[in-house]
Amino acid sequence: MITPKFTAEQVAETMRLVRDSAHIVVFTHMSPDGDAMGSSLGISHWIRTVYPGKDVTVVVPNAYPEFFRWMPGAADVVQHDTDKDRAEQIVAAADLIICTDFGEAKRVGFMAPLLEAATCPKIMIDHHLNPSGFAQVAMSRPEASSASELVLRLLLQAGECERIGLDTATCLYTGMMTDTGSFSYNSNDPELYELVGELLRRGVDKDACYDRVFNIWSLDRMRLMGYCLLRKLQVMADGKTALIYLTRKELYRFNFSSGDAEGLVNLPLQMANIRYSCFMREDKDKVKISFRSQGDRPVNEYAHAVFHGGGHANAAGGEFYGPVTEAVKLFVNTYADYFRA
Ligand code: 5GP
Ligand code: MN
Repeated sequence: MITPKFTAEQVAETMRLVRDSAHIVVFTHMSPDGDAMGSSLGISHWIRTVYPGKDVTVVVPNAYPEFFRWMPGAADVVQHDTDKDRAEQIVAAADLIICTDFGEAKRVGFMAPLLEAATCPKIMIDHHLNPSGFAQVAMSRPEASSASELVLRLLLQAGECERIGLDTATCLYTGMMTDTGSFSYNSNDPELYELVGELLRRGVDKDACYDRVFNIWSLDRMRLMGYCLLRKLQVMADGKTALIYLTRKELYRFNFSSGDAEGLVNLPLQMANIRYSCFMREDKDKVKISFRSQGDRPVNEYAHAVFHGGGHANAAGGEFYGPVTEAVKLFVNTYADYFRA
């Protein structure tokens, strides 16, 4: 038995809005990850299965990593930064916007004004803390391990199990897998495995999902990881915090492409005594920062307080406007005030 996570009104209102809308747009956050792709594509496939005549489009702000291109429907996703006019036309024609894997308009970056200006009803399905009130139907459940899990729970609660097709199930599984590090963190809820069981019964090949997302490294990406571990990994004075940072020059040297840094922040946590990890990457106009931690050691408060970010207790991120060396100085001078034993 799967515990209902949403009120009967939320489920009924979602089903009614989907039924009564002809042009549905699904939004997800900047630099979409596996859960962003999985939850947005997953719900869009379900809508197409149930209502083949409806016009459903997933719109993302910018590129998603290459290793999600195999996901059913990924090729049809409209990317705002490279296809602005089309993205804006689609949003202008929308009579329903569904937002997955983000709870604040600012998480869609430069698409935020578009989202906020849209007058049609909005549904939000998300698992981040501190949701803002941009959606009429706001289904925020921070205890959930992924937005994909929440989409699945919503469909099951709505009695839609039999209409979850293989494409929907494959996308939702991929989101659940990636947001839990292949079920290695945030994954102690026994119901998670009942949900996975349901997806496997829908025909998902979970081993193939893993293979397509994780066993696809380029030689450049392999070398970049080796370089990070050999040359860039530092352990802070506290003995339990690790830092890796990469300059633009270093990224260029390894022909960096979107997704190549994915997972590097997790590597130092494999050391016996490391409890916190920070990874910084110098982008064109800012430094992108990731934090990870183990157990009851939240990093989202630090990400929010010092790097204008946020996220989950054990996986958070933020930004810094300036050279990466300055971001490193700020980190070195502040981490000890927030990171506990
Ligand atoms: P990642 O390190 O994988 O980029 O992000 C981990 C988590 O941190 C994301 O799921 C997201 O919740 C959060 N996060 C990352 N970057 C930011 C940011 O700039 N602002 C906020 N509010 N959250 C972020
Ligand atoms: Mn997520």
